[in-house]
Amino acid sequence: MQPHLRKCSLLERVRASILPGMRQLMCTGKQAVEWRDAPSPKIENDTDAIVRPLAVARCEIDPFLVSGLFPSKEPFALGHECVAEIVALGDAVRGLEIGQRVVVAFQVSCGSCGTCDAGHSGLCDLYPTLSDFGMQPLSGTEYGGMLSEALRVPHAEAMLCPVPEGIDPIALASVSDNVLDGYRTVASHVRESPGENVLVVSHGSPSIALYAAQAAVALGAGQVDFASDDPDALALAEKLGARALTTDFARREDRYPLVADCGNRVEGLQYALNSTAPEGICHSASYLPMPESAVPLGKLYTLGIRFYIGRAHAVSLLPEVMPLIASRALRPEEVTTRVVDWEDAPQAWLEETIKLVVARGDVRKGAGGTADSNT
Ligand SMILES: [Zn+2]
Ligand SMILES: [Zn+2]
Repeated sequence: MQPHLRKCSLLERVRASILPGMRQLMCTGKQAVEWRDAPSPKIENDTDAIVRPLAVARCEIDPFLVSGLFPSKEPFALGHECVAEIVALGDAVRGLEIGQRVVVAFQVSCGSCGTCDAGHSGLCDLYPTLSDFGMQPLSGTEYGGMLSEALRVPHAEAMLCPVPEGIDPIALASVSDNVLDGYRTVASHVRESPGENVLVVSHGSPSIALYAAQAAVALGAGQVDFASDDPDALALAEKLGARALTTDFARREDRYPLVADCGNRVEGLQYALNSTAPEGICHSASYLPMPESAVPLGKLYTLGIRFYIGRAHAVSLLPEVMPLIASRALRPEEVTTRVVDWEDAPQAWLEETIKLVVARGDVRKGAGGTADSNT
């Protein structure tokens, strides 16, 4: 599909050069993505930060947002996974510095209410459910997008996590969301039962599934199998140390004590559940929008299968995951399949690839290359 391309008029260029403002990437209609002028954000509360995004990854939900699956009357800002540089801080912020590079959590969360304290920051008491950057069609509120010159981040101490020394920001662009999402489908289960075999099922959302496979290998699972009908995802899974299982999801290959389910297809979820051993665990990061249940509850009851489903909690998970990245146990860059220049974001945002990262020229040079892909 071709993106909707739009050139700035001379008047718009002149206006942008004399008025305080910025450009941000907006979805303006079905499969239509363009740079638009927007007011520059300002510090509103003394716990805020203003950040300048440097490298932005495309989340697995982004193609659905621009496809019109979740309709919006208004244009909305795009991008909710990034590494950014802090350019301003409210007076009450401690432990962060201007110029510091940080991962920005995708969910807006205070980090200190009872729900955040319990580790469920994605359901923060202070904000309506689904209060996220770059997802106005889901929440109805425009919190801003990360494909922008600047972004206001409330609760900066909770929502910003410093990038470990020596780690390329492009490598961490997806840590705000999808890396955490894959990680949490396996992490606690593998830690409770080290050495157990894990099956990761990818029926959509391939990057989340690949991050799950990498985490399972890193955290000490036994054999990690990766089931999919996507040859690109299967090839990448093998590079991460998993065994590739090509499947059409019709028949299970085996039964596993731990299964991670990632995607958006009913047959994929059912394959994952059918592949879970009695008294085993299936942890799902899938979103299936149909109202009818695709879950065979009778089978889960009879076999004692524990089924977990829900969103990742970004602010709660970041402090747990960043040390694993700093030690290189997790290497999210191994899942990145395409890196493009900032200016190419409108076209690239609509292209098919497993994990897209849009990066500013200064950090691309810092990463030492201009290659499109690392795979
Ligand atoms: Zn996301
Ligand atoms: Zn909270």
